[in-house]
Amino acid sequence: MSHHAREEPSVRDANKSKPYIPALSKGTDDGFSNEDEATATCFCGAVQLVFGFKGLIPEGNFLCHCTDCHKIHSSMFATNFCCMDKYVRYTRGRENLTEFSTTKTPVSGKAMVNHFCKTCGTLMNRTGEGFPGINVLRVGTVDDFNLMETKLKPQVQQFTKDRVSWLEDVPGVKKVEGFHYWHKVSNL
Ligand SMILES: [Zn+2]
Ligand SMILES: [Zn+2]
Repeated sequence: MSHHAREEPSVRDANKSKPYIPALSKGTDDGFSNEDEATATCFCGAVQLVFGFKGLIPEGNFLCHCTDCHKIHSSMFATNFCCMDKYVRYTRGRENLTEFSTTKTPVSGKAMVNHFCKTCGTLMNRTGEGFPGINVLRVGTVDDFNLMETKLKPQVQQFTKDRVSWLEDVPGVKKVEGFHYWHKVSNL
């Protein structure tokens, strides 16, 4: 095996009793995860933020099948979670984020802003006029992969009307045809 290859357990086989932080490209393996907070890092490692679990909002972990998420993530759906502003801080690279904003969104016509790493293109955060004070973060940027199966497991899937036909309902996950108003559920 070349020394460039990585030797790690799989997500399935990782020890679930401690953080599982695979070393991806350079600089992405210095994140952490503890009882109170965890890191999210872009693919190149330039941008890293910390979010606190206390800032997660009710029903704010969601899969989104909307047509915007489809394109933004260059995938079939997005895996997102919402965290209040005061529980999000950047440890490095905030200046390395750039923005793309549009008001042509599937719901309100209110502006949504994408914040992504200008080096590697990883989308770290979306913010919107329609839900001030909330960061819509990406589960895929979280360094501890085990959190996907615990604290960041999806609670809702939204825009199932736009879901590809070969994907099925996720057991135990609330299904919403259009937009799920998690920002109203959250009581902010
Ligand atoms: Zn990056
Ligand atoms: Zn979406």
